Amino acid sequence: MIASISHVKKVMGELRAKKKYGQNFLIDANIVDKIARIACDEELVTIEIGPGLGALSEMLLKYSKAVKAYEIDKDMYAILLDSIKDERFEVYCEDFLDSDLNVYEEKVNVCGNLPYYVTTPILFKLFESGLDINRITIMVQKEVGDRISAEKGSEDYGALSIEVQYLFKVKQELNVPRNVFYPAPNVDSAVISLTPIRARDHEFEEGFFGFVKNCFRMRRKTLHNNLKDLYDSEKIEEAYEKCGLKKDIRAQQLSLEEFLKLYEVFE
Ligand code: SAM
Repeated sequence: MIASISHVKKVMGELRAKKKYGQNFLIDANIVDKIARIACDEELVTIEIGPGLGALSEMLLKYSKAVKAYEIDKDMYAILLDSIKDERFEVYCEDFLDSDLNVYEEKVNVCGNLPYYVTTPILFKLFESGLDINRITIMVQKEVGDRISAEKGSEDYGALSIEVQYLFKVKQELNVPRNVFYPAPNVDSAVISLTPIRARDHEFEEGFFGFVKNCFRMRRKTLHNNLKDLYDSEKIEEAYEKCGLKKDIRAQQLSLEEFLKLYEVFE
């Protein structure tokens, strides 16, 4: 069993967990089993982001057709090759952000105990790729979980919340205390599942997500100020009138529906 403190200490030997890669390894087999059951379908391939020592990979293999994992750290990669000998397991020593997801033609599940420092770019990459996603199940630090489920008006509400909520049904699956990791992080985590709720339209999404990111470019400024670099004032005022928006409104005060309507008016 990889998810145990004795195994982690044994295979790490002289190695230290690398903070720069957000390495905190799961050492609770019960939690790992729960995550894998949520994440997998027997007939589907699971893509794993950041397998580390393989605690989650081992369990994902149990419940999936195959596992394709992306690990940035050469030390982890070497350990993984040694620890998991299953022909259904493939690991690529690669930064997930540089990986080519166009190689997947079939529907996939995605799972990972995500490294904190790149959680947001990883999620944007997944959402904006052409991957045919069945479900994404991720462990994130609680703060990122809050941003994902944030509603308009909240401090945490931003482009990430809007992209997620436009594309997926978000479910908070588990709260995970810090003591199930080695080394223990300073904050608690949460497991979240994301299930697609609409047919993909990449051309529309590219335009809409780019528009939303621009609206949040300077959070402290009014939406009007952020839009000024994209459209002339007359066009902005006309759009505000059509959407019934006040001139001093900020991006974080708009609902997903209001963003959609505003984008439609501009485009
Ligand atoms: N899945 C393991 C577990 O749950 O015990 C390890 C999780 S650890 C929080 C995150 C893992 O992601 C580390 O193994 C780290 O080296 C790897 N990682 C960090 N940045 C990455 C990136 N950009 N692409 C792929 N893997 C990355």
